[in-house]
Amino acid sequence: MLVLGIETSCDETSIALVNNNDVILNLVYSQIQTHKKFGGVVPEIAAREHLKKLPILFSQLVKETQIDINEIDGIAVTKGPGLIGALLVGVSFAKGLAIRYNKPLVGVNHIVGHVYANYLAYPELRPPYIVLMVSGGHTLILKVNESMHIKIIGRSVDDAVGEAFDKVARLLGLGYPGGPEIDRISKDGNPKTFGFPRPKMYDPDYDFSFSGLKTSVLYEIKRLKDAGIEELPIKDLAASAQEAMIDVLLHKTTKAAKDFGIENIVLAGGVAANSRLREKLAEYTLEFNFFIPPLEFCSDNAAMIARAGMALLEDGKNDGLGLEPSPNLFEMIGDEW
Ligand code: ATP
Ligand code: MG
Ligand code: FE
Repeated sequence: MLVLGIETSCDETSIALVNNNDVILNLVYSQIQTHKKFGGVVPEIAAREHLKKLPILFSQLVKETQIDINEIDGIAVTKGPGLIGALLVGVSFAKGLAIRYNKPLVGVNHIVGHVYANYLAYPELRPPYIVLMVSGGHTLILKVNESMHIKIIGRSVDDAVGEAFDKVARLLGLGYPGGPEIDRISKDGNPKTFGFPRPKMYDPDYDFSFSGLKTSVLYEIKRLKDAGIEELPIKDLAASAQEAMIDVLLHKTTKAAKDFGIENIVLAGGVAANSRLREKLAEYTLEFNFFIPPLEFCSDNAAMIARAGMALLEDGKNDGLGLEPSPNLFEMIGDEW
């Protein structure tokens, strides 16, 4: 099945063509340079950038793949969760194409898209599995059962882990996005220098809390400054903060897998790029199989949306022109799909 995918939920404008588990082309335009000077994503600017870039990327896709769009079986677009203005641009563009080419159109839950990204990297992967979905907007543990039903079994009760990386980076005077910067400088730091708290680590649930970490880092910086230390041990602070986050993520994910008797663990989202996280997985490889898709399918992209939409199109689903974006999909549809 040949599906055109469109993703505009946050700050990546992406359009892709996917044939079953094969990605023919996945074009991703990151708006990061545009938002960098504001220290975070500005929703209004994101929407405008999507509007500018989508037609350009679509023309590029047609030109590079040489595929006649009349031959596709359907169109899949992210319907949420995400920034409402940004989502509206993608959904409207997809509707335009659905009319122009007279094709079925399905709205895809962005989180479900992240789960399906794994089939692009690992076509042999079969449920059940546990997903650790870690990005700038989400920190979730998902349980995917034999029939691909997805259940959220854990989530951050406050900040997403990527957000926590970004906030700690800002405190340390590092650039945006902070995750990759913390990752980089932590390699020369000692993760044991500062014993930052690991909230909820031993709670019986699978939830997380990351908002306290930035406060702990802030207090530590203040303490060091009050003690007359002029040059802050940035690398040790970064490495210790990173270690605290990763310890909780890995402990809770493996606990979930153990509790449900599931051997396969899948990583998704931008934070899955973290080198320390990947390194520490080695401690658990005797018990579990880990699936870590390449970063192009971990961070936001339209190929994963096309692949998830394919499952809906195969079931004969067509949302047509009635499709509406929903920024808070969790509230609307609950915890299970
Ligand atoms: P969502 O997918 O939830 O809508 P998003 O688009 O912001 O949100 P991604 O693009 O998947 O999420 O991930 C971006 C986040 O990943 C940022 O917070 C960034 O700091 C973090 N990140 C990227 N690389 C690394 C890394 N190597 N280590 C830690 N964090 C990282
Ligand atoms: Mg992003
Ligand atoms: Fe995402």
